[in-house]
Amino acid sequence: MSNAECKAKNGGRCTCTHDPCSRKGICCECVAYHRMNGEVPGCFFSPKGERTYDRTIAAFIADQKGR
Ligand code: SF4
Repeated sequence: MSNAECKAKNGGRCTCTHDPCSRKGICCECVAYHRMNGEVPGCFFSPKGERTYDRTIAAFIADQKGR
């Protein structure tokens, strides 16, 4: 699947509010990027946690505990 096809298919479902980001809707690139940095993609966070833009694993765990 091309990046354009991924964006068309997934772009509308992406809950990340960090704009602009060239990886929005290209989930494989988003996951690979954050994994490489020891992080978690924004869509795994609650809406409140997502808006902190802190994608660290520690922030993810804290977000999950705060749910
Ligand atoms: S989670 Fe990160 S890589 Fe994915 S769309 Fe948001 S800012 Fe971009």
